[in-house]
Amino acid sequence: TSLTLKNVLLLGANATGTGGWQDAFARAQAFLAELSLEEKVEMVTGTTGPCAGNIKPIERLNFNGLCLQDGPAGIRQAIYASVFPAGVVAAASWDRSLMYHRSLLMGREFRGKGAHVALMPVAGPLGRHAQGGRNWEGFSPDPYLTGVGMEESVRGMQAAGVQATSKHYIGNEQEIQRNPSSNSSNQTIEALSSNIDDRTMHELYLWPFANAVHAGTASIMCSYQRLNTSYGCQNSKSLNGILKEELGFQGYVMSDWGAVHAGVATANAGLDMNMPGGIGFLDPTPSFWGANLTTAVNNGSVAESRVDDMVLRIMTPYFYLGQDEDFPFVDESSSVINFFDPATWTYNYTLGPVVDVRDGHAQLIRDLASAGTVLLKNTNNALPLRAPRYLGVFGNDATEPEDGLYSLNLLAGIDAGNYEDGTLAIGGGSGTGRFTYIVPPLEAIKRRSSQDGTLLQYVLNNDKLAQNPYFWNLAPTPPEVCIFFAKTWCTEGADRPNLDLEWNATALIANLASICNNTIVVTHSCGINDLAPIAANPNVTAILAAHYPGQETGNSIVNILYGDVNPSGHLPYTIGRNVSDGVIPLVNSTELLNTTDPNAWQADFTEGQLIDYRHFDARNITPLYHFGYGLSYTTFNVSDLSVTNVDAAGSVPRLPPALPVQPGGNPTLWSTLLRATVTVANTGEVAGAVVPQLYVSLPQAEAGPGTPVKTLRGFDKVYLEPGESAEVGFDLLRRDLSFWDVGAQQWRLPTGAVQVAVGLHAGDLSESTSVTV
Ligand code: BGC
Repeated sequence: TSLTLKNVLLLGANATGTGGWQDAFARAQAFLAELSLEEKVEMVTGTTGPCAGNIKPIERLNFNGLCLQDGPAGIRQAIYASVFPAGVVAAASWDRSLMYHRSLLMGREFRGKGAHVALMPVAGPLGRHAQGGRNWEGFSPDPYLTGVGMEESVRGMQAAGVQATSKHYIGNEQEIQRNPSSNSSNQTIEALSSNIDDRTMHELYLWPFANAVHAGTASIMCSYQRLNTSYGCQNSKSLNGILKEELGFQGYVMSDWGAVHAGVATANAGLDMNMPGGIGFLDPTPSFWGANLTTAVNNGSVAESRVDDMVLRIMTPYFYLGQDEDFPFVDESSSVINFFDPATWTYNYTLGPVVDVRDGHAQLIRDLASAGTVLLKNTNNALPLRAPRYLGVFGNDATEPEDGLYSLNLLAGIDAGNYEDGTLAIGGGSGTGRFTYIVPPLEAIKRRSSQDGTLLQYVLNNDKLAQNPYFWNLAPTPPEVCIFFAKTWCTEGADRPNLDLEWNATALIANLASICNNTIVVTHSCGINDLAPIAANPNVTAILAAHYPGQETGNSIVNILYGDVNPSGHLPYTIGRNVSDGVIPLVNSTELLNTTDPNAWQADFTEGQLIDYRHFDARNITPLYHFGYGLSYTTFNVSDLSVTNVDAAGSVPRLPPALPVQPGGNPTLWSTLLRATVTVANTGEVAGAVVPQLYVSLPQAEAGPGTPVKTLRGFDKVYLEPGESAEVGFDLLRRDLSFWDVGAQQWRLPTGAVQVAVGLHAGDLSESTSVTV
């Protein structure tokens, strides 16, 4: 009967506090014991309030409620807060410590503003589509690199005492039709369904979420779209099954805003917190939960133990992070810039004073943005600049944003199109930031070039630049160095129409290069751009991909241009020679936009794991710029790879021994089986940081069709003086060396030889060896 079936679904999905949260879990149990059913339901259903998401206070229990705030580049809904480099920049830095500190400092800002829960970090979208509108919020289409980004971000955020929300779980790879829509006959057309097979799910899209759970993420946000035809927040397989039972996740599943489309079904599928609470975005009633959840418990459709488990999952990380003691009240400025009008608040909130939380964070922001800037081309050592006598700066991305410092926010109701004039330092939507200032590239260049007495000229309007005479008029001769700043805009809620540099920049760069034979291009963009025409142009002497660097953008790029910082960023994705190589088209068409079939929107992930460099490898296509590629002002060498079995005498079972599940899954998956070492040397003239990258190839015959030729399974960033060398070690975990065996529903270690290769990028693996685990 249906009751028995429900019990089966819930078996093993209840939290226990395992993995170090036991004391906090006991405190959550004591808290739960004080609550009426109505209060329990209020603990799991959002309400209006001063933050992007709010759980109401319970004064009787000294509980001040929960304040949930966006987003992945800093606390968005705040004044006197910092805008950090985007996730894609953190990924491009390939620097674990910078990833950690980015999140730690961000966490201090969230806490200072009274936010208990930060709606970051992002591993979904992973980046299946180069045109995906939100790829920049996360890290990389490579799950290992993103997994490291997730782990460092969760740890950094939670070290500051703020709960991390790893999002969007799972398969939210495109923005178009991420939510259901109504067609002209007022018929509901369901959201896109991402149809992902079990192996691809585990080895690609789930992988970084497993890192997040392993790192102790307090929360996981389920995504808008459907997964294998069930809504992301109503999918018992992905929530109860994979997340809670298989990965042993002990925190709570929070819905994306408005992603709840049912009451009983979502509660029983494993959703633990409904945000923002109401069915409509701005009004807490009516709600699928709230009073309806109380009714569902009273009539037996949802077990009260399920609601208890929701509350325990929500309160355990709260106690674990000590949020019950001395936690700042919500900064009163947050409420004013919220989308909930204070007049609609159902409860009284105690607000704190307006505080400046920026501290000295600008330095880290600047350092990370420099460390994440990727030098793609540098002909004849065009860079670094050496006191140029005459410098020209071009393009509408070089200067002040003309439409204000928060105009990039889709949520503010201002749509794309108002970002024509001014530099792009962050993208739009809930992942944007409210700048307290921006240092535009031109301003920083002015300051730096004046030290050399450089003649500096600029033309910033792209329409004017299209009229050639303008830059002939700069001075009698073309500048000695021309720097063109180009950009691409990305925002939540929309995908990119193509991969071109915007505002006609590719054509303008060609024009410029035809008169200036030392043209340097800097891109501020969300990810993959069509760079082939620029790369092939001999007069384009250097290309720098700086992505969205945050508030210190100008200072960070000047550090690189003038060589105060040696570039050490590396691409977290692949750029094709023909930009459409490897690009998986979005699901979108006029037919779909006008469909009368509620289930018309289907995305079959038929490429399996073969996205990004895995695609190029499988088809033997040489890209323009490989995954992991990035130049330096010095040169490096990698040598002496050696790989050893950690337990040479022991016999390693092919499937992990059955052990109680811990956060991250079977704990054996996280044990080290192989240790690799290499020597890296700085063979050039200046100091710099090298990123040796380790790739693993599993035996194809054994691992079966669809197995990637190679996958990243290790990297490190090492700073070396000229002539210096160092030994770098890599631990290869059981999970790094296994493939997902669909039949066994386990990670399986191959018996055959595994190839281990190390080098400077995915196309330059100079050292390799094979080893049997
Ligand atoms: C976004 C989330 C965000 C939430 C709250 C949603 O539209 O998808 O990433 O955290 O809004 O602003």
